[in-house]
Amino acid sequence: MKKFFILLFFVFIININFKSKACDEFLPDWYYPEWVAKAKYNTPIKVLDTESALGRYALKYKEIGLKDLIKFHGHLCDGLVIAYIEIKEVLKLLFPDGIVDKTDLIAVSKNGPCWVDAVSYLTGARINFKTLRIDNSIGDGFIIQRISTGETYQVHLKPGVFPEEMSKLEAKIKKLRFEGKSVDPEDIDRLEKMAEDLIKKLLNTPPTEILEIKKLENYQFVPIDLFGERTDIINKNIPRRK
Ligand SMILES: [Zn+2]
Repeated sequence: MKKFFILLFFVFIININFKSKACDEFLPDWYYPEWVAKAKYNTPIKVLDTESALGRYALKYKEIGLKDLIKFHGHLCDGLVIAYIEIKEVLKLLFPDGIVDKTDLIAVSKNGPCWVDAVSYLTGARINFKTLRIDNSIGDGFIIQRISTGETYQVHLKPGVFPEEMSKLEAKIKKLRFEGKSVDPEDIDRLEKMAEDLIKKLLNTPPTEILEIKKLENYQFVPIDLFGERTDIINKNIPRRK
């Protein structure tokens, strides 16, 4: 009888945990530590897609989260977590009903591995469909627009959230490697520790304390600057004054 009650207790506890988070998101793995899986603000996103190659809207939504994003991107890193939090908060504003329509989004991102992977995976925006603009002037944030409404937000980290010491160490390591020089392995370890501390902070702080989100009015999305209008010929046939 006692064993039965103990079993019942564990079933109850597991059930609570599974209900509070999407199943898979709750389960840690070697690439997804428990402190990330259980972090307070690590919550999944509900997304809606189409059903087949030429299909209509699916009748159900899916839940995707940081664990899925890590599997897609290849590793857990501070850039991925920053991007995840930033994009998730903007999507909350664009889809107040809580279900993100991944067929209805365009975005602007800087050219960084973590940033582009995160925004493509979470919004469905992609360069080859002219729904993702790569623009380094945007910095460590995004512009995201809901196509059907034109509603647009720009998101950034608040100043001071990203540790200056970490920026300096990142810059030092990149500079050495781009110059073909070797780096001190201890510097890589130090940077990874800093990244872990930052991720812990980001996933356990209310997003409003970390992020700056600004609404952009009448934002005109241009997917790429490579093609444009040639302005130096538009007046070629205008008559001269006599
Ligand atoms: Zn990364």
